[in-house]
Order: sequence, then C-alpha cells, then structure tokens
Amino acid sequence: MNLHTPVAPTEGVCPFCEGHEGMTPPEIYALRPAGRPANGPGWSVRVVPSIEPVLRIEGELKRVGVGIHDMVTGVGGERSDCGKSESRDHIR
Ligand SMILES: [Zn+2]
Repeated sequence: MNLHTPVAPTEGVCPFCEGHEGMTPPEIYALRPAGRPANGPGWSVRVVPSIEPVLRIEGELKRVGVGIHDMVTGVGGERSDCGKSESRDHIR
C-alpha cells in the first residue's frame, strides 16, 4: 500500500489508530522515538490533515464583502482525537 494514498475507512477499523497509518494522508507532525520512520507505527501523537477538510492549513486569507457581511476564506485546522493513551483499540 502506498502510504501517501489514503483509502476509504473500513467499518470497524479506525484509520487514526496505530498500525493504520496508510489509511490517512501523510502526517504533518508526530511524536515518536528518534530513528522511527514517518508515517509508520510507534508514535504517541500523530497529526494528519483531514481527508475531507472544512478548513485547510495552507492558503491565503481573502476577505470578500457580501451585502452587509464580511466573508473570509476558510484557513485553519481541525482536530480529531483518537485517544491512543486511553485505549489502543477504542473501536473494539
Ligand atoms: Zn482510533
């Protein structure tokens, strides 16, 4: 499996649990022991972009006037917690 090609989640399998790194887009950030490869198991915290993001972390803020409203493009981040430290297999 190509680690950079996320696949659709399988029912009962959490794409955010350790060992399923290939089911997510490539990580943005992770805490893991030195020498362990990126996008693989062994992490304690792992940050990946959303597959269907409402917000994007890159991009330019653009302001547009719509009637009496000021509209701004969606730039920012989202958070999804897997809770690895609480349970390694929280779906089961
Ligand atoms: Zn999980």
